[in-house]
Amino acid sequence: MEKTQIWVFMEQRGGVLHDVGLELLGKARELAGAQGGEVAALLLGGDVAHLTDEVSAHGADLVLVAEDPALEPYRLLPYTGILSQACREHRPSILLFGATALGMELAPRVAARLDTGLSAHCIDLQLDADGNLLQMVPGWGGGVVATIKCPVHRPQMATVMPGVMQKLPPSPRTGRVVNLTLPPDLDLSGPRILEVHREAPQTRPLETAEMVVAGGFGIGGPEGWHLLEELAGLLGGAVGATRPPVDEGWALQEQMIGTSGKTVRPRLYIGVGISGMSHHVVGMDGSELVVAINSDPKAPIFEVADICLVGDFREIIPPLLEEIRQRLPR
Ligand SMILES: Cc1cc2nc3c(=O)[nH]c(=O)nc-3n(C[C@H](O)[C@H](O)[C@H](O)COP(=O)(O)OP(=O)(O)OC[C@H]3O[C@@H](n4cnc5c(N)ncnc54)[C@H](O)[C@@H]3O)c2cc1C
Repeated sequence: MEKTQIWVFMEQRGGVLHDVGLELLGKARELAGAQGGEVAALLLGGDVAHLTDEVSAHGADLVLVAEDPALEPYRLLPYTGILSQACREHRPSILLFGATALGMELAPRVAARLDTGLSAHCIDLQLDADGNLLQMVPGWGGGVVATIKCPVHRPQMATVMPGVMQKLPPSPRTGRVVNLTLPPDLDLSGPRILEVHREAPQTRPLETAEMVVAGGFGIGGPEGWHLLEELAGLLGGAVGATRPPVDEGWALQEQMIGTSGKTVRPRLYIGVGISGMSHHVVGMDGSELVVAINSDPKAPIFEVADICLVGDFREIIPPLLEEIRQRLPR
């Protein structure tokens, strides 16, 4: 069997790496270790050569670099051209991207150029005995996790949700550095980013919160939502949501937890009126202690909860608030 070559696209902005690339290097290292394979990090941009030590330390045996002022900021068509050409020349077995806005735009373009498949929003990756990549993706509204494999076409491509893989602690590894040649016909047409405006978050950041109170469709409207905000406020935590409350406008997009939202790992997660579909659960199952409040004793969220409270949240939360208030230092 051929040695497995796992390539990871390292997303960066202004010379600073996005964590998802480092997380994917950690996973790639684990997969390569099982089969004696090699892990390569792909660095594209205007000023990226200084990142080679960082990506080596996080697991890359090989660092493929394309550095050119035309590659900063990110541009879809030149990036697609460089990645496709590099894959045709070096024929990696696997090519991974973060499921970020950039990764979700770039990966399908590259897959189409290479005439191969792509599994989007994976939550786990494994290798079978024949070196096929098993790509786990939530399906059917989050009720099942499908395992997808692409036995014929190469590379096998996947985008993976930020936050679900663990990056490795840095180690003193020195990866070989290879400079990629830019295609002579580098396509500089197409959209260009002229300016970047960062929107300030309107709610307490979820990713760093030690306490998260998350609400689902069972909350029923903005009125119930205030109870969650009160609970999170007393605990000094942040409010998260499943997708339906965001669609309904009770919560903001930045509060969504799950495959299309954020990944949280708080010390305490309280899920209220949430059924527990895998699209949501993958974003919170790294939480230390999970408390679930649901009126349906058969709700799947109870399968991942440490403490299960069966009942109407409107009856459970007010006495809980009272209890917490009494215990808070005056
Ligand atoms: C491609 C794709 C991506 C998706 N990405 C995400 C994502 O990132 N994040 C996400 O969350 N979802 C996502 N979804 C949607 C996901 O599949 C589920 O539909 C969603 O998570 C369900 O949300 P919910 O649990 O709030 O609602 P429901 O499944 O409707 O559950 C509501 C729950 O509330 C309970 N309930 C009702 N009334 C009360 C009450 N008074 N007190 C207590 N409990 C009560 C009910 O028993 C029920 O279990 C995605 C779907 C697709 C197709």
